[in-house]
Amino acid sequence: MAALRLDGVVHDYLRGRQPVRALNGVSLTIGGGQCVSVLGPSGSGKSTMLHVMGALDIPSEGRVFIDDTDLAALDDDALSDLRRRRVGFIFQFFNLLPALTAWENVAVPRLLDGVKPGSVREEAMALLERVGLADRAEHRPGELSGGQMQRVAIARSLIMDPGIVLADEPTGNLDSRTGDELLDLLASLAHDGSERSVVMVTHSMDAALRSDRAVLLTDGEVAGDGVPGDVVAKF
Ligand code: ADP
Ligand code: ADP
Repeated sequence: MAALRLDGVVHDYLRGRQPVRALNGVSLTIGGGQCVSVLGPSGSGKSTMLHVMGALDIPSEGRVFIDDTDLAALDDDALSDLRRRRVGFIFQFFNLLPALTAWENVAVPRLLDGVKPGSVREEAMALLERVGLADRAEHRPGELSGGQMQRVAIARSLIMDPGIVLADEPTGNLDSRTGDELLDLLASLAHDGSERSVVMVTHSMDAALRSDRAVLLTDGEVAGDGVPGDVVAKF
């Protein structure tokens, strides 16, 4: 089963009254258990594609399927429900809540889902353990390094056990050694037997070479797709 499918996706933004075409006919199928990196120059449509994949943006044309659900068939409530339960998001600047501890940040999506804090603490702790941060559970983001904050964000992305994890420049704000460790952790999310798909936008060739597959975007179109070494060579 394809975890994610884009079929002829076009996306335009309006700049004043002028449409700007960010995606120009993107078709891609991403299966479960794959870690895919998305490369391309600035402005080539990488973030837009990630937003479309995560149902944050509805494309101007074309279809998007998540686990064979056609997003066009869903109303706003169903879309936000699907986003919350089936997609985990990881951002360059972590997007943690500064007043909450590490475990509370991990628990936030479950708490928003109406689960009581007591029962979710254990789940959050298990995920912090998984990302190697169990000993920082009671620390607030301000007391953590960048790499540690991104580990918290990765744990948070998993708390709803999503089939898809989308990461926008997850190592863009980290030194390269910390970044490499996190890339291994991200790839492991796809390789742990969960059949999860991980898609990450990156400027790092190193990140691309560590993934299973690379997609190159140029001017909103797929200009390369396949073995990372081959795709990186085109970029
Ligand atoms: P990338 O992530 O590869 O840098 P983006 O997806 O952010 O590319 O942007 C693709 C194109 O769409 C660029 O020309 C960008 O300026 C434009 N764009 C992105 N977001 C918006 C927006 N909210 N409003 C108008 N134009 C946008
Ligand atoms: P990146 O290049 O790392 O993808 P950007 O800095 O281009 O990110 O964009 C950051 C945010 O600003 C994105 O959410 C994108 O949608 C928005 N954005 C990008 N370009 C434009 C633009 N020309 N006008 C309005 N919003 C934009």
